Amino acid sequence: MNDFLMDMIASELEDAVGRENCSTRPIDKLTHSVDYFWLSRMWADRGRRMPEGDFIVSPKNAQETSKVLQIANYYKIPVTTWGGGGGTQGGAIPVCGGILLDTKRMNEIYDVNTNGMYIECGAGAIYKHIEWAANEKGYATMHYPSSLTCSTVGGFLAHRGIGVSSTKYGKIDDMALQMEVVLPNGDIIETSPAPKHAAGPDLNQIFIGSEGTLGIITKAQMRIYEQPESRQFRGFLFHNMTDAFNAGRELLQKFKPSVMRLYDEAETSTLIKKIVGVEKKGAFMNIALEGVKELVDVEHKIMMEIFNKYGAEDLGSEYGEKWWKEKITFFYPGHMMDLPQMFGTMDTIAPYDKIEKIYWEMKKAIETNFPQARFIAHFSHWYEWGCMIYDRFIVDKENVPEDPHEALRLHNAIWNCGVRTAIANGGVVNDHHGVGIKLGRLMKEQYGPAMQVFEGMKKQLDPNGIMNPFKLGL
Ligand SMILES: Cc1cc2nc3c(=O)[nH]c(=O)nc-3n(C[C@H](O)[C@H](O)[C@H](O)COP(=O)(O)OP(=O)(O)OC[C@H]3O[C@@H](n4cnc5c(N)ncnc54)[C@H](O)[C@@H]3O)c2cc1C
Repeated sequence: MNDFLMDMIASELEDAVGRENCSTRPIDKLTHSVDYFWLSRMWADRGRRMPEGDFIVSPKNAQETSKVLQIANYYKIPVTTWGGGGGTQGGAIPVCGGILLDTKRMNEIYDVNTNGMYIECGAGAIYKHIEWAANEKGYATMHYPSSLTCSTVGGFLAHRGIGVSSTKYGKIDDMALQMEVVLPNGDIIETSPAPKHAAGPDLNQIFIGSEGTLGIITKAQMRIYEQPESRQFRGFLFHNMTDAFNAGRELLQKFKPSVMRLYDEAETSTLIKKIVGVEKKGAFMNIALEGVKELVDVEHKIMMEIFNKYGAEDLGSEYGEKWWKEKITFFYPGHMMDLPQMFGTMDTIAPYDKIEKIYWEMKKAIETNFPQARFIAHFSHWYEWGCMIYDRFIVDKENVPEDPHEALRLHNAIWNCGVRTAIANGGVVNDHHGVGIKLGRLMKEQYGPAMQVFEGMKKQLDPNGIMNPFKLGL
C-alpha cells in the first residue's frame, strides 16, 4: 500500500479512536508481533521479524470497535485482535498485516453483581483483575489458568480457555452468561440474557472459540461463585496410569472435586519431584475438594474408599497444598521449558475409553519418529465422561536446528505427527489452547465435511475475509 493511502487510513482510524490510541510506531508494531507461540519467539530469536500490523489501534468500547471494523471493511484490510498476547497458537499474530486491534483499553469492570452472580466487564480486562474485583466482595471467578495475570477475558473466551479448578466449576464456556460482540460489518450485538435456553442455537457458543475470525468480543458477563467454606487437598501415588484412570472415572460418577490432576511417571519424577518434593516413583495425583465443609468431609470419605480400592498410596495433604501454592511456579523461568529448547503442548481431549490409548500412541509416535524429542504428560481437566492430556514434547537445544526454516520444519513435523495420532485414535485437535495459525491445517482433517459449517458462518459474517485471516483453518 502506498504512503498516501496509509496516511489516509491512519487519519480515519485516529478519528475513530483518538490519535493517542492509534500507533504506527515501529516499537508498537514489534511488540504486537510475537505472542507465546514457539515459532514466533524462535523467529525473533534468530534475528528475523515476524509479520507486523500496519496500524496498532486501541478502541475503548464497542462503538469505537465498530468504527474501526467499518473502516477495515471499506478498505478491505485485515483486522487481527490482540488481547494479552499470551496465546500459544499464534492466534494474535497479524500474519497479513493491516489493523492490529488491541483490546486492553476495554478493561472496565462495570458491575460485580452478587444478586445475578456475575461480573460484567470489558473483554480487554486481565482475568486477575476481575478476580480481585470479585474477591473484594467476598466472591471468586474460579477461573485459575496459569496465565491468569497476563491474559484477557476476551482472549480466554476466544480460545475456549480453562483453569485448574475446571472439574467442579467448568471451562470458560461454562462461565459466560452474556456477551457483547461487534460483527465484522460493525454491527453491535448482544447474545441472549441467559445462556441455557431453547431459543435456537446458543450465540455465545458461536463466538466462544472463534478466535477473532467471526467478530470481536467487547464485553462479557462472567460467572462468580461463593468462596468455599472448606478447601482440602490430598496427594496420591498410583502404581500405574490404568489404575489412576479407573479411580478417577469412578470418583467422577459420585461427585466433582475442583482440582484433579494426574502426572505420568516422567513428570512425577521430574517436575513434581522438583516443585512439590515427591521423591517416589509412580503417577502422582492431586485432588482438591471444596465447598460446604460437611459435604467436603463426606466426599473425602468416598474418595478414600475408591482410591484405596485401586491401590493408591495416600500421601496426605502436604503435597497437594504445596502444589496449590506453587501452581503457577511450574511456568516460571528455570521450571518451564524455554528457548533455545523446542517445545509444545499438544493438549487433546477424549472419552475415557480412548484417552489412555491416545497417550501411549502419541508417546510412541513422537519418540519413535523423532528420537531427539521427549514426551511427557499430565492429565489436567476431568469430566464424568473423559479427560484431557496436557502432553508436551521437548527437544533439547543441541538438537534444534539453528536455521529458522529448518527449525520451523521440524517443529511442524512433530506437531503433525502428534496431532494426527491423536485424531486417528479418537482425540480432538485441541482442548483449550485453541487453533490459531499453528493448527489451522489440521482442522479439515479433524472435521472433514463438517468444516463447511464453520466456513459458511465465516462467509456469511465476514464476506470480505478481513477478520484474522488464516486462523482456525479459515
Ligand atoms: C505461561 C502460560 C500459561 C498458560 N496457561 C494456560 C492455562 O492454564 N489455561 C489456558 O486456557 N490457557 C493458558 N495459556 C494460554 C493463554 O493464556 C490462553 O490461550 C488465553 O486464552 C490467551 O488470552 P490472551 O488475552 O493472551 O489472548 P491473545 O493471545 O492476545 O489472543 C488469542 C486469540 O484470541 C483472539 N482474541 C483475543 N481477544 C479477543 C476478543 N476480545 N474478541 C475476539 N477475539 C479475541 C486473538 O485474535 C487470538 O486469536 C497459557 C499461556 C502462558 C503464556
